[in-house]
Amino acid sequence: MAQNVENIKDHATLFQEQEYQELFTNKKEFEGGHDPDEVARIAEWTKTWEYRDKNFAREALTVNPAKACQPLGAILAAVGFESTLPFVHGSQGCVAYFRTHFTRHFKEPFSAVSSSMTEDAAVFGGLNNMIDGLANAYALYKPKMIALCTTCMAEVIGDDLGAFISNSKEAGSVPKDFPVPYAHTPSFVGSHITGYDNMMKGILSNLTAGQKKETTNGKVNLIPGFETYIGNLREVKRMASLMGANYTLLADNSDYLDSPNDGEYRMYQGGTKLDDAADAINAEATIALQAYSTSKTRDYIAKEWGQKTSVSRPVGIRGTDEFLMALSELTGNPIPQELELERGRAVDAITDSQSWIHGKRIALYGDPDLVYGLVSFLLELGAEPVHIVVSNSNPEFEAELKALLDSSPYGQEATIWGGKDLWHMRSLLFTEPVDLLIGNSYGKYLWRDTKTPFVRIGYPIFDRHHLHRYATFGYQGTINLLNWIVNTLLDELDRNTIIPSKTDISYDLIR
Ligand code: SF4
Repeated sequence: MAQNVENIKDHATLFQEQEYQELFTNKKEFEGGHDPDEVARIAEWTKTWEYRDKNFAREALTVNPAKACQPLGAILAAVGFESTLPFVHGSQGCVAYFRTHFTRHFKEPFSAVSSSMTEDAAVFGGLNNMIDGLANAYALYKPKMIALCTTCMAEVIGDDLGAFISNSKEAGSVPKDFPVPYAHTPSFVGSHITGYDNMMKGILSNLTAGQKKETTNGKVNLIPGFETYIGNLREVKRMASLMGANYTLLADNSDYLDSPNDGEYRMYQGGTKLDDAADAINAEATIALQAYSTSKTRDYIAKEWGQKTSVSRPVGIRGTDEFLMALSELTGNPIPQELELERGRAVDAITDSQSWIHGKRIALYGDPDLVYGLVSFLLELGAEPVHIVVSNSNPEFEAELKALLDSSPYGQEATIWGGKDLWHMRSLLFTEPVDLLIGNSYGKYLWRDTKTPFVRIGYPIFDRHHLHRYATFGYQGTINLLNWIVNTLLDELDRNTIIPSKTDISYDLIR
């Protein structure tokens, strides 16, 4: 099995070699596996309506949910702030999972530390881990802020972060005036979008304490929510600048998650300045670009800061129009010609491609705000959403999405499957096939199984490179989404018309 270092092979080719193939065959002898014919028979049965009914009747089991856990969202919020180190109070394995998840998606290092709780801390509480962990993190990594959240373990034993931080400061782990915002992020409720919301609220309430002034600073706060497209943050900043808006992005992790390769490792890069975040309490208004990852934060801003808050998702033509009009209303500035021209180009691109997309049946899954934006865009194209799976759904979202679907003739065939998972989606795709599936990388297995053409949009995207660098927001993002969708449909058409003079009668080149 030893490999020549001059000839290191990827596992995709390595495992095809004879010695591995023999090893796999021999291994089967001891696995006690089932008869392959019986396996094939059951596999066919799982494609039927009979199996679908049983699949949808399951209650105590989730298979491949399209969501992650709370602390993962919390640490994404934290790294949007200047020189901020996420600190997760709980078990080390959880934090290793969060870091690798982000690293696999962004292809960037992601720094987050843990208090490394083990059996003794689970029995006696994790205070000592916190005292030592904060002292080490502060001394070693020299952050300007440490943002704390929890894993399931710390939540199950009921560790109180507020009290632990006070005790740690008393013990001298960090200076008394050093900012240590926190959020309890129990993963047995909610999802990564809840964790993002909890942490954003925790950070803003910590930094803005005592900062309220008599007059506003004339700025607009923009909260992206659990946003994993670097291109979206840059597009939002570009559009806000073109609108002449004086804004604060809460928070901006676009540089942190996209550092240049110039030979120097920067542990902290970019991010919203802590002073700007502290002054966010004095802004004119706050616009969130996602609703369901910012609900507690918006409530807090409206009640505690007395600020007007709203939600605007700049996806597709209508969504981008609404976002720009909201900015225009707040700033008093007209929409500049540059953005009007971009709008015209996006409408032109849609017109060019519309005949290939109109009437196509679509299945999609993902976070509530992502799905809402995509459904809105698909309806603009005349595509017909059919199966909509949102594992981290809630009744408010379902009512909002239903109203959107009801407003369009193309939304009439849609069913919203709240709280369902990707194994449910598999049954849906086999029993009621569609023309296109949209979702994150895990949809690859649905594509392989059901042969449904697949567009990767969402989080995480592990198995394709650089998609997160593009925008899905704004008129330029509209063209990107359109490009991915229409060209996947055309790729499939080419695959289905690949035999000259048989399936390809006209030798089609032009679509
Ligand atoms: S669900 Fe709980 S135990 Fe699992 S990774 Fe998340 S925090 Fe850790």
